[in-house]
Amino acid sequence: MKTNHILICDNCQQENPLFKSTCTNCSHYLRAAEVNIDLWKTTWNLFENPTSTIINIIFAEHKNFVVFLLILFSVKINLINIILNSAFLSNTLISFNISNLLFGTIVILLVTLLLIKIITIVFNTPQKRTRYKDNLALSVYSFVPIILTIIVILPIEYGIFGLNWFDYNPSPIILKETTAYVFLAIEAIMILWSLYLLGRSYFIQTNSTIISIGSVFVFISLLFILLNLIFRFYISLST
Ligand SMILES: [Zn+2]
Repeated sequence: MKTNHILICDNCQQENPLFKSTCTNCSHYLRAAEVNIDLWKTTWNLFENPTSTIINIIFAEHKNFVVFLLILFSVKINLINIILNSAFLSNTLISFNISNLLFGTIVILLVTLLLIKIITIVFNTPQKRTRYKDNLALSVYSFVPIILTIIVILPIEYGIFGLNWFDYNPSPIILKETTAYVFLAIEAIMILWSLYLLGRSYFIQTNSTIISIGSVFVFISLLFILLNLIFRFYISLST
């Protein structure tokens, strides 16, 4: 039997964390084994039925595609950072070029792994309801809507605006105002959907709104702050 954030043993009624496959009290099997994550089915279901998809990810023994998705996520977050920097901070040093892209992507990848570790330690309840392995897979799968924009939206943006999409010199908003806003709106919706999924993932595991919102806030704010701090250090070394 399963409720929102716990598994109740059918045999002895003991409450177990979601990730347990056998009861902590009597070793009774709590669920049928779920082995793999199907990437395409999961991607679709994240839009259609997020809650059961999140639970399936926790249940899966092998967290397939996590490394692949983590790399794509790191590339995309780094692109967002470069665009925000050149658009709003006019920081021409953190601009769109291969070495910045590569450096930022590696930093995001490492920082993401570290932040999820910290979140797992800091936000764990005394009953220890979440595992690093699950939090990593859930975070990375939560970002599937953002990752999809690389495959689906980015080629179209590049086709219409070329490198101006990243440069903001001139801004794509000046070039083709309506089109630029439509694409920015799609990107914003995908980011919000990903953040919703991330918060939902922690809520399903812990049943705590504070942990849920706290994790999303820590993750997003520290991700960008750390990336920019490390970028500044990297640039100060290379100039
Ligand atoms: Zn039991």
